[in-house]
Amino acid sequence: MTDPLLPPPATLRLTVDTQALADNWRALDRLSGTARAGAAVKADAYGLGVDVCVPALRDAGCETFFVAHWSEVAAVARHVPPAQIAVLHGPLSAADCGYARSTGAVPVINSLEQAALWTANGGGVCHLMVDTGINRLGIAAADAGDPRIAALDIDILLSHLACADEDSAMNARQRGAFAAVSSQIAHRRASLANSAGIGLGEEYAFGLTRPGLALYGGVPRGELAGAIRPVARVEAAILQCRNLVAGESVGYNATFTAPATMRVCTVSLGYADGFLRLRGPGNALSHQGRALPILGKVSMDMVVADLSAAPDLAVGDWLTVPWDINDVAQQNILSPYELLTTIGQRLRRS
Ligand SMILES: *Cc1c(COP(=O)(O)O)cnc(C)c1O
Repeated sequence: MTDPLLPPPATLRLTVDTQALADNWRALDRLSGTARAGAAVKADAYGLGVDVCVPALRDAGCETFFVAHWSEVAAVARHVPPAQIAVLHGPLSAADCGYARSTGAVPVINSLEQAALWTANGGGVCHLMVDTGINRLGIAAADAGDPRIAALDIDILLSHLACADEDSAMNARQRGAFAAVSSQIAHRRASLANSAGIGLGEEYAFGLTRPGLALYGGVPRGELAGAIRPVARVEAAILQCRNLVAGESVGYNATFTAPATMRVCTVSLGYADGFLRLRGPGNALSHQGRALPILGKVSMDMVVADLSAAPDLAVGDWLTVPWDINDVAQQNILSPYELLTTIGQRLRRS
């Protein structure tokens, strides 16, 4: 008997290759030289799902996990010790400090105010972000000697590169500034490089690296190309096949008109699933290498595709959705980060 409370099989699926994910982490750990690699798992592991990704990373050997929000802690803490979870946004209130202490997740302190707040609320082990030029979060290097910083018990001293995916002079400047400040602030581990930063070479790795994108198959620098495998595959099922006659139109605002008789299919995929409207025009779904061009506008839950190249397909057949995050043509529309993090909830549940 099927359980009436469980939904029937989905018509949309995201497959995460956990073996490739683990291999990518190992490769990045190796490329980090004497440093260890951690993992950025914020935004539900870049859209691929914490419950799938974090256990795979943990089992591969990862021991440090970065999220942005306090609301992201609980999901990660189901899989790893909370002391291994760093919260990048840090505490903005006594309530945040209380939550950190009760869960055991570790705040990244980003300002002198956050340092004072953390100490006033009992303190304990924390991490510290120093700004070396990206100007988002972090204390100024000039504040390294402030007594509010001296009062902290700092595990990881972090900074973040602004231009690591480019050959910019800013990279070496930030590296030099970070090396200088790390000699002024007591800490246990130093961490500068994200995925692209690992590609810059071992002198950027310090004691701990923080890859995100490359774990999930993104290649932000050529140096990583041979080491990183794709991780995510998105597929959607055909809901209905239809025959159009010349002059009939498809979808909202009738933006596609059939030039002749043609067979089309309606597919269970829409912008609510992260297949944004701007990915419709000129794009195609595919089936075993056969391209099925998208016709008309992408709806919230559906898209229509041309079956001319695959007239044998029927309801329930699975189509491959282009989600190659390293496809340069697609990157003119969306960055690989956006392609991943806009993957919709319905896909992650399937
Ligand atoms: C998101 C993030 C990372 C990971 O960056 P990738 O480019 O995805 O590798 C590392 N460090 C910080 C502070 C971040 O916010």
